[in-house]
Amino acid sequence: MTKANILRHRILSCQQCKLGESNHQVPFDGVTWAPELILMGEAPGAKEEKTGKPFVGRAGSLLDSMLKKAGGDRRKTMTINTICCRPPGNRDPEWGEIQACLPNRQSQIQLGQTWVGVTLGRVALGALKDDPGTHIGVHKGKPFWLNNMIWVPTYHPAYALRNEGAVATITSHLKLALDFYWGVKDPPDPPGKKWTMEKQCLILDSAASNPPQNVQDVARATFTRVEWIKLQYESPETIETVILLKQELGVTVVK
Ligand code: URA
Repeated sequence: MTKANILRHRILSCQQCKLGESNHQVPFDGVTWAPELILMGEAPGAKEEKTGKPFVGRAGSLLDSMLKKAGGDRRKTMTINTICCRPPGNRDPEWGEIQACLPNRQSQIQLGQTWVGVTLGRVALGALKDDPGTHIGVHKGKPFWLNNMIWVPTYHPAYALRNEGAVATITSHLKLALDFYWGVKDPPDPPGKKWTMEKQCLILDSAASNPPQNVQDVARATFTRVEWIKLQYESPETIETVILLKQELGVTVVK
């Protein structure tokens, strides 16, 4: 069984909160490739529950078109939810349910293996910031680091279905996230870490106060899949140079 399948089964049989008790589908985007972005929504809606796929309803279609306008592609994006099961009657997730679903969220994020994410709406942002009182209006468009990933908070696409003006705002935030991913824009420095992009590689300086400590940190410090693919088109010497550079910095290179 693949890692994704193991996780899918774990989430399907999860009983950490009362939402797991009913017999239902749980949307799961078990990517088998390294996505450019992880997009984190709130909770599955009726259509998602029926199909077992995240963001396939009206909000999902709008998300697709905004992502396209931003230069992205839903097929290269992993979508996850703050909570995996649909709350009855489409009510807001309760804080206890959000906390209970933390291991499921974390495992999905780890599966994604990217370093750029977008939170869609107040609930996703509050979950990551561990603050039920988070205001999306205050944080929207302001990137923040968490566990070696940079997150760009934006509104939920369902909000843009009701407020057309939010379409341009969300699109600009999706573009900001993609610009970070592609190295078009430098993200803010991670706290306590020296960071550079060299030859499209994310390099964390191990001499900084907070060097990569575990496999996950190191994975973030290595090539993202896209960067690696880009490097394939460079000369072998360039690849060698980059690997040497990383090794000099004490960063393990995983190809
Ligand atoms: N809204 C969400 O937050 N997630 C989905 O999967 C669908 C709609």
